[in-house]
Amino acid sequence: MDKERIARELIGIVGSDGVATDPGELRVYETDGLTIFKAMPDIVVLPRSAEQVAGVVKVCHRERIPFVARGAGTGLSGGALPVDGGILIGLNRMNRVLDIDYENQRAVVEPGLVNVWLTNALAPRGYYYSPDPASQTACSIGGNVAENSGGPRTPKYGVTTNHVLGLEVVLPDGDIVNFGGRTLDPLGYDLTGIFVGSEGTFGIATKVIVRIMRTPEAVKTLMGVFETIEDASNTVSEIVGQGIVPAAIEMMDNNSIQAVEKGVAAGYPLDAVAVLLVEVDGPKEEVEALVGPIIEVCKANHVREVRVAKDENERLLLWKGRKAAFAAMGQISPEYYVQDSVIPRTKLPPVMKLIGELSQKYGLRVANVFHAGDGNLHPLILYNSANEGELRKAEEMGAEIVKACVEMGGSLTGEHGIGLEKRDFMPLMFNDDDLEAMRKIKKVFDPDGLLNPGKIFPAAMRGGEVGPAGQREALDKVLRRA
Ligand SMILES: Cc1cc2nc3c(=O)[nH]c(=O)nc-3n(C[C@H](O)[C@H](O)[C@H](O)COP(=O)(O)OP(=O)(O)OC[C@H]3O[C@@H](n4cnc5c(N)ncnc54)[C@H](O)[C@@H]3O)c2cc1C
Repeated sequence: MDKERIARELIGIVGSDGVATDPGELRVYETDGLTIFKAMPDIVVLPRSAEQVAGVVKVCHRERIPFVARGAGTGLSGGALPVDGGILIGLNRMNRVLDIDYENQRAVVEPGLVNVWLTNALAPRGYYYSPDPASQTACSIGGNVAENSGGPRTPKYGVTTNHVLGLEVVLPDGDIVNFGGRTLDPLGYDLTGIFVGSEGTFGIATKVIVRIMRTPEAVKTLMGVFETIEDASNTVSEIVGQGIVPAAIEMMDNNSIQAVEKGVAAGYPLDAVAVLLVEVDGPKEEVEALVGPIIEVCKANHVREVRVAKDENERLLLWKGRKAAFAAMGQISPEYYVQDSVIPRTKLPPVMKLIGELSQKYGLRVANVFHAGDGNLHPLILYNSANEGELRKAEEMGAEIVKACVEMGGSLTGEHGIGLEKRDFMPLMFNDDDLEAMRKIKKVFDPDGLLNPGKIFPAAMRGGEVGPAGQREALDKVLRRA
């Protein structure tokens, strides 16, 4: 690529304050939330409108330059990394709420809008936007769309795809198209459905039409303190088994509690083996009626203490601890590698036991903090890359966990996506025909393979290795052993 010529042309589209080529500035974009992978873009562009995005994409298309969209860079699968170099299109400047239609419960936002800003804008009128990734104070709604993000509220309200009705998208040739709309069942193919969760490989979302909801009349959050992981896991299964649908059920183990208490002092008992946060919301009478049965299930599973947050401040503090848990890991470890897999909820006890055994085997501590209600695990494998071989051990252990989850009837990823991290794991769940069908769909959107290359599909499908090889090696090792 003739970097200087291209940069000049891009400046003509977005202005000189929207193009970065200086290595110091580019370094900000060389990784996302999963810092084990790094790849530098050649140029970063920061457009302010769909037309500017389209202009930049047209240059990439004409010049055959690879390009990738980036929201807030909180992704945890290396999705926003420019593994082939090229142009990174940062969407943070497109961060406005464009329209709120309270009567029809819709909002239209730009993709760079930080998730929680939408709820902040809606709250004074008694509305909110439901998808609530723990990263919601930083991540963008465009990134949530790409990853089909979930969050604590997923068990009752679903993931991002359940709240996105329409999109404006810049396709990889620079055309601006509209999918879906404000109505629930739009005509034709469900292109919104196929786009949500496509991990930034089909196009760049430049507007998002979302469903907004009334803030529930009442909400109660309970904290259950357990002496064993098994009791906490059984409690989760039994609550759901009884037909109770909590808005959230989150679990944290002792390592997570230690980190959180050092970080934000949320009030979790330091000697607890596991803590469950269970939240119920809805009409006041319904919420009141659910608290008792949940406490009974906790008691039947030997809860040491169960506490209902007495006021909004205590409730928010309990949640602050959970939502700050990843960030708080710095209190107990210099680095961590977060795994994101899913298991059927009933498999929680055996999988938690296995993670404990693997922790012993590899000599690495694990902090578990996760969306227990939908079986979405997040073992954070604690390591220190300054210690020879420790990162590789963490990757190998992560690969064992993923493989075990799949074998137990679960899935490779719950919400963080495949991205770069898990592309070589795809054959664990999909055969060649499945993968070929997916590749054909990718080709419909991006026949030249310029948009976010090197993601989702195993490296072998590109005819070779690109980017960091750690995962490949870790997986090969684990598979060879099997
Ligand atoms: C502390 C922490 C907690 C987290 N908790 C959760 C959680 O509870 N639930 C959850 O689901 N995730 C969670 N995540 C992961 C992450 O926050 C989500 O995946 C989030 O949706 C990423 O948004 P982002 O704006 O940071 O996207 P980025 O990391 O910038 O990008 C992610 C992917 O989206 C693509 N992309 C970004 N914007 C667009 C666009 N406009 N159009 C098309 N593609 C685009 C990128 O190309 C990339 O492939 C957490 C991360 C951290 C660091």
